[in-house]
Amino acid sequence: MAHLLANRVEGMRQPESMDIDTTELKGRTFRCIEGCGLCCLCQPELLPSELRLFSSDERLKQVISRSYIDPSRRAIAMYPRGGPCMLLKDRKCTAYGKRPHFCRIFPVHTHIMWRIQLTADMSCRGIWRREWGDRTGSYEDLEAYGLRELGTYPEVKLRSELLEAAEVYSEFRDIATESGIWKEPSTIRDRASELIREGYFSSVQGLGQILAASERSRESETDFESSLGTINREEARYAAISSAGELLDELLSIERLEDMPVYVSRKLDWNVFRYSGKSAVRLTLGDLGGASDGNVFEISPDRIGTDKSGMQTLTEFASITNRRDVFLGFVYYLTDDSDYAEDIETAYLENMAMTQLDLLIRSALVNPDMSANLDSDSIADGIVFIDMDMHDAPTIGSVI
Ligand code: SF4
Ligand code: SF4
Repeated sequence: MAHLLANRVEGMRQPESMDIDTTELKGRTFRCIEGCGLCCLCQPELLPSELRLFSSDERLKQVISRSYIDPSRRAIAMYPRGGPCMLLKDRKCTAYGKRPHFCRIFPVHTHIMWRIQLTADMSCRGIWRREWGDRTGSYEDLEAYGLRELGTYPEVKLRSELLEAAEVYSEFRDIATESGIWKEPSTIRDRASELIREGYFSSVQGLGQILAASERSRESETDFESSLGTINREEARYAAISSAGELLDELLSIERLEDMPVYVSRKLDWNVFRYSGKSAVRLTLGDLGGASDGNVFEISPDRIGTDKSGMQTLTEFASITNRRDVFLGFVYYLTDDSDYAEDIETAYLENMAMTQLDLLIRSALVNPDMSANLDSDSIADGIVFIDMDMHDAPTIGSVI
């Protein structure tokens, strides 16, 4: 539910009258796990004031990166070959008191479109800690934490980013309306919620039905809704398994270590996966970059399934995705990229189904012995593996 930030957390300086949605953070807690360091594998951008601070410090100015994805901005340098931020030593930040906003607000992410939305990065095991039974020590309330850290972001910059993102969103909506494909986000999300309740997003069969119906609507101009009920079992299975095979192939074919999605294991190893012949291999990234060889194992998309508890966790993740503006913005990005040729609601449902399949694949990769019968814990491991990428996908709107 959207609300105004003003007076949300008493006594803190906050930008007033900005529409901020914190639904995903409610009821969640967090405590960082010593020795994890997963978030330090993402390159931290420096805000202008942070760049000034780093530039005036003899040690810190050595780690300002000379190349960054956006040449108009600066970031902290990373170790080569998939290594972490250069300020990480023995999995501890050596500039903790001066770490940038990017690091401070993690595991909360800020997405800006017509409103600001705070979401939780479920790749951070510190968010799962209490849920997984660690009752020791104290926890941060994630909503209060996210709002407090957002309150430290320069307000003028936040307002101008919101204004700019709202303009881009409005322009997107106008073009989509002219193209006859616009639907209100709430209408699309309500339809996705119905399909989640009906179990479409929690079984290979249901995901296949959605994928086959979207494919059919694209090819024959029959709309998605009329196609959905007419997909037979074999057609659905074929659609799910071939799409899962493509996703797996894509994931295991990434060549550069720095481009590979990282999974932080329960033992806090940083794992990446790639092909070894026709099998998969699990590698471990070193603290200064590079990777050591690991176990080779077989994985086949046609032998992936869940038990009842796994289905429940899949359902929960579908509901999380369905509330995220960053995901909606990703579908808008794809719509813009394909010249507004595809129905937005169908693209949304299709991409949700692909995300769920990707989650199944990743859950199986990190739990190959369970791949035919993934349970709730295995799917949770898959969420740890996938969620960093979910937040990192291209999107209409901006991520700060
Ligand atoms: S990913 Fe989470 S638990 Fe790991 S170092 Fe970062 S904040 Fe801590
Ligand atoms: S500045 Fe510190 S907290 Fe941020 S990524 Fe680097 S080592 Fe990690």
